[in-house]
Amino acid sequence: MTFNEASIRAALEAVIDPELDKSIVTLGLIEQIKFENGHAEITVSVGTDEPQDKRDALDRVIKEAVGSAAEMAQATLAGIDVVFARKVSLSAQPTAAQAPPEPVDESNPLPGVKHVIAVGAGKGGVGKSTATVSLALGLARAGARVGLLDGDIYGPSIPTMLGLDDAVAQVKGTTMVPFEAFGIKAISIGKLVDPDKALIWRGPMAHGAFKQLALQTDWGELDYLLVDLPPGTGDVPLTLAQLLPLTGAVLVCTPQRVAQDDARRAARMFQQLEVEILGVIENMSSFTGDDGKEYDLFGRGGAEILARTMGLPFLGNLPIHPDLRKNLDDGRPDRNFSKNPALAKALDALATNLANRISIASLSDGTSRPSLEIN
Ligand code: ADP
Repeated sequence: MTFNEASIRAALEAVIDPELDKSIVTLGLIEQIKFENGHAEITVSVGTDEPQDKRDALDRVIKEAVGSAAEMAQATLAGIDVVFARKVSLSAQPTAAQAPPEPVDESNPLPGVKHVIAVGAGKGGVGKSTATVSLALGLARAGARVGLLDGDIYGPSIPTMLGLDDAVAQVKGTTMVPFEAFGIKAISIGKLVDPDKALIWRGPMAHGAFKQLALQTDWGELDYLLVDLPPGTGDVPLTLAQLLPLTGAVLVCTPQRVAQDDARRAARMFQQLEVEILGVIENMSSFTGDDGKEYDLFGRGGAEILARTMGLPFLGNLPIHPDLRKNLDDGRPDRNFSKNPALAKALDALATNLANRISIASLSDGTSRPSLEIN
């Protein structure tokens, strides 16, 4: 029976990652398989923070799987090497020798940034990235210096929404140069890792990837850095809240009851982290048909009620508009402002209301960073 790279891959299909309960091949952990002169070399990509005992366990099970496959094929194996490569292959990842020094002022690692604002949502698909991009452009149109950090490391959509598909990530020394689009600076994990590879981040990896994006980007001087968080209450909001002094958070919610329930949990998370909630945005409030009538597809007003019952500021509504979706799919968020006066009005109002809430929060020293440990 022949024994070659394909046989090795087939044998590795059966090796299950104990944490994620999926084959290590399906998970995309196998970078490369070489089989030459009876010698097998398997390159496995793991998180930079993956503990040594996890690597040792993988090393053992891979060797066992390949060894028994060779035995079954009656092939002679001169040796098996398991090589561990870094999973988070950010192009800007510095080598240990050139790693930048830790920021001197740990209480404020981004001294050039006046306000860091998290944009979160309880649920995916409610328009959190749409709101982040629109707020960023709205604030920039008002003359502010704005950065956008795509912290949605599980589903980065900012590159598409900002039309960065063909842009190439650039690195200067040990820092990443943010992309410039529509007057804002932006960085996204989606431009730094292979988009066809499943982005599976375990806790420590998510923490590391996010920290790198936030701190190793050359943001320069900014009035606002908006951070598009992944939906829910996972590792990234925790990392962000503990890493940077946040002025506050914005919650995006659609009107339905199920979205409100999740948004309430996200609100509680920010409150537990002692991050001030600057306001709630209701997205997909209503839809105006060709007949000029307004239709409340998802039950308009639900997010506003949520804000009121939780004592949170309400920043405004965003209607469902096909142009909004199309312009973002086309990577032309500017057209929401330039081609559609009604949309522009709604988006500008959101940005203005947010800027006002930020000013109020800053007056009462709204920057916050929890020291609490979350288990
Ligand atoms: P999230 O970041 O919460 O997962 P997105 O911002 O990616 O959600 O939005 C999901 C999809 O819905 C995108 O295609 C976006 O263009 C579309 N979308 C969001 N809000 C609206 C809206 N108000 N009108 C029309 N389409 C919208």
